[in-house]
Amino acid sequence: MDQNENTCQAKTALCAGGKQSACAAEKTGSGESLNALFEQKAVDDRMHQIRHKIMVLSGKGGVGKSTVAANLAISLSLAGKRVGLLDVDIHGPSIPKMLGLEDARISVRDEVMLPVEKAGLKVMSIGFLLQNRDDAIIWRGPMKMGVIKQFLQEVNWGELDYLIIDSPPGTGDEPLSVCQLVKNADGAVIVTTPQDVAIADVRQSITFCRHLSLPVLGVVENMSGFVCPKCGEVTNIFKTGGGKRMANEMGVPFLGSIPIDPAVGEACDAGKPFVYHYSRTETAKAFERIIAPMLALSENGITEQTQTATNIEGEKKTMRIAIPLADGKLCMHFGHCGQFALLDVDEKTKKITGQRMLTPPPHEPGVLPSWLLQQGVNVIIAGGMGSRAQSLFAENGIKVILGAPSETIEKVATAYLDGTLKTGDNVCDH
Ligand code: ADP
Repeated sequence: MDQNENTCQAKTALCAGGKQSACAAEKTGSGESLNALFEQKAVDDRMHQIRHKIMVLSGKGGVGKSTVAANLAISLSLAGKRVGLLDVDIHGPSIPKMLGLEDARISVRDEVMLPVEKAGLKVMSIGFLLQNRDDAIIWRGPMKMGVIKQFLQEVNWGELDYLIIDSPPGTGDEPLSVCQLVKNADGAVIVTTPQDVAIADVRQSITFCRHLSLPVLGVVENMSGFVCPKCGEVTNIFKTGGGKRMANEMGVPFLGSIPIDPAVGEACDAGKPFVYHYSRTETAKAFERIIAPMLALSENGITEQTQTATNIEGEKKTMRIAIPLADGKLCMHFGHCGQFALLDVDEKTKKITGQRMLTPPPHEPGVLPSWLLQQGVNVIIAGGMGSRAQSLFAENGIKVILGAPSETIEKVATAYLDGTLKTGDNVCDH
């Protein structure tokens, strides 16, 4: 098939709904900004029915981004959530193969595309358009962008708890346009391998997310050690731990490591979703551990509550105070407290309007600052805190009050709001 024929086939599928916007990417001139507005509106309308949108990003290809995206989606689905998996990795749309959906084709009803369903998971992939895997490589830039936009605008997902988006790798125009078009995404999971070269790319991905104000849900280190297919023992064939160190240095959560497991490759090649068919293996458990913060998005209602703390311009309008707790009182050991009380305060009346308790993720240096940031916290009242954590909070505009006494939430918060809180030394009770 030549390039024109191939392009034509893709456009025919995309235009099957008869919508003019299907070919919007090709339009130029004065209508361009209006088109951009229509495109954004179309994506917003589509995404409106989806509670949580999670991007899966990587600094480069071949690190297992699609493998992680597919297995996260299946793990969430196995946890009873309504999940969609959108594969817009135009350079290597491998999701159809991994899920045994290579023969699936896009169907269109009422002018919109319908996802393919497999075991309760809704799947849409650019791969469904291609006759063979490499077809998209010969598409021109605007054509690729047009196809990506169509997939964000014109797939009818229905109501979903989660949409996992397998984005193109790197930090170029394609992932940029995906991240910019999907407004209010909950955040990104960044996949890396342990080698230094891959780690350097991930730093760029984290910076990319920061520029776009896209929260980093965490870093996954894939292909970390090798699982012996005979005895199950894990051997570190590359240097491991690079992903974790880098995540700590950059102040983002580390979600976990997944070893190289020949069963993962075999399952992918055979089109068998790994976590579904090999659920008892240590590798499947490693995938499951990674979804914990994603499930917490729904359990803690983080997205909704974070949004109420922020107005459209991103300016804080509600004060949200975090107090570390142990036995119902302010805990002097900030990094190891069992719970945080999060209090919403009306800034005008200085009245507490809401309170909830949250269990923080397991202690790792640098994890708490980004976790509290994700909760929309803008004030922390603590007994003591290390200088590294203090500077991370300061960088993110979170005010920290140190030297507060070990008193009940009510006493500490009321005294702070009245301006009568007596603070002492920065005491971290290790
Ligand atoms: P990317 O999306 O980053 O390009 P893929 O997810 O397509 O990467 O993975 C590339 C290849 O590596 C696939 O053949 C996949 O089966 C294999 N793979 C990914 N993760 C693992 C793992 N943990 N163990 C074994 N093979 C893996």
